[in-house]
Amino acid sequence: QTKTFYSLRPHVPLPPETLPLSAAEFALSFLRNNPISPEKTTALIDATTGHRISYPEFIHRTETLTASLQSLFGLSKGETAFVLSPASLQVPILYFSLLSLGVVISPANPISTKSEISRQINLSKPVIAFATSATAEKLPSFRHRTILLDSPEFQSMMTLPTGKKLTRVDVNQSDPAAILYSSGTTGRVKGVILTHRNFIALIAKLNPVGPDTEEEIPPHSVSLFTVPLFHVFGFFMCVSAVAVAVTVVLMERFEFEGMLKAVEAYRVTDIPVSPPLVVAMAKSEVVGKYDLSSLRLVGSGGAPLGKEVMEKFSARFPDVEIGQGYGLTESTGGASRMIGPDETKRYGSVGRVSENMEAKIVDPVTGEALPPGHQGELWLRGPTIMKDTGVSAGYVGDDKATASTLDSEGWLKTGDLCYFDSDGFLFIVDRLKELIKYKAYQVAPAELEHLLQSHPEIADAAVIPYPDEEAGQIPMAFLVRKPGSNLNEAQVAPYKKIRRVAFINSIPKSPAGKILRRELSDAALSGASAR
Ligand code: AMP
Repeated sequence: QTKTFYSLRPHVPLPPETLPLSAAEFALSFLRNNPISPEKTTALIDATTGHRISYPEFIHRTETLTASLQSLFGLSKGETAFVLSPASLQVPILYFSLLSLGVVISPANPISTKSEISRQINLSKPVIAFATSATAEKLPSFRHRTILLDSPEFQSMMTLPTGKKLTRVDVNQSDPAAILYSSGTTGRVKGVILTHRNFIALIAKLNPVGPDTEEEIPPHSVSLFTVPLFHVFGFFMCVSAVAVAVTVVLMERFEFEGMLKAVEAYRVTDIPVSPPLVVAMAKSEVVGKYDLSSLRLVGSGGAPLGKEVMEKFSARFPDVEIGQGYGLTESTGGASRMIGPDETKRYGSVGRVSENMEAKIVDPVTGEALPPGHQGELWLRGPTIMKDTGVSAGYVGDDKATASTLDSEGWLKTGDLCYFDSDGFLFIVDRLKELIKYKAYQVAPAELEHLLQSHPEIADAAVIPYPDEEAGQIPMAFLVRKPGSNLNEAQVAPYKKIRRVAFINSIPKSPAGKILRRELSDAALSGASAR
């Protein structure tokens, strides 16, 4: 019986690995060959201002910025740039320029706190930062230059040629392209190094006249990004959208009704979302106020989307396909997805394994690979998985975490409890790892425990996920108080707040000192003195 699940999708050829090629070059070569005449297509729309940039303008700005960054700051291959910005038209242009130069992009959540940002900067060691006038003050006294994306200076870098010719940079596919942040299966936030090859493998699947479309030119897509550009979901959507000449609508400040307005105003066809938005669309009253007839597809990922929600959504929007995808930062996103109307009806599943990817379901106790219908840990292998070879690979500066996440044969242990059905559809049952997902945002329990434990009035602490209808999960803390304590709010980003607390006499731990999270979850669900 099957023990390794190979992708059921047609194999996608990739360029020879030794060919110097950046992810930007590859995406732009796709764009040039696109049958939908990119020269007439809008690349980016700012939903708030209505400002538009066409694809020729996008390419022009990217090239001008690339030359500016090289000649003004001498930015070169292998150096890292920190990016701290909400979604704006400048961000995709910046990403493409940095990728072309082989400069590693390290984007962070703009609502992170100063101490979280310091930690990320310590991991990625940037030589330059790109922020906005609103986010710059959060950067630690930064040794290097900070460029404001909303400044006239940046505007000129994108639009006024410096007069100096760009010195061509040979980027190797194995060179790092981005450092994205994830806590992995355990512990604190880590920097995941993804290579140009990882992104090239992702783009290669997007053949616009490929097997999914039966050689017809697919209708033009207008995609409203509700997913953040600093997270792997938004990052890869951004690179992919350019490759297939999608018009991308960006919202600097996300707001539900603003999203509906933008769908109506720009005739949006696709919305990549995280599950709470699907819940909102399925339930909310205001939805009826807007003309959403242009919508064809809502693609959810980043956290579990329940079967019932998918059904409710479909009943309300019978003409809109609701698809689910699954992935991790460590797999450059998209490890599985649904394609076409038949697959999107498999409510509750996360679709089938992506092109060129192999999967195994491994018994967490015996380590044995299991056949369809059996639950175990999902392992993944393929060209979009982070690599553990080379100097800069895996988790930045954390060989131990890299070694425990990737085995010697290149299998990524996802920490997710899953099974396949006999048709190759993947189902995510539970999370074996510590990670909490609050509205698809990562919250590392270890990080909150660390903060809580450093509090003078707390003797010990453990943080676990607690189910929540709107957010999926909320972080819940079990605290052992010191006598006579008066506790303050933890000092972390808003989405990482402890939203539920229970006091306990001692935190249950294994003989090795590992927190027994399952025991706490069971206690929480059975209503132990929580408030
Ligand atoms: P991230 O690195 O932030 O993308 O987080 C990856 C983790 O999010 C996965 O290992 C899963 O635990 C969870 N996840 C992502 N997509 C889904 C999904 N469609 N269903 C269930 N869990 C998901």
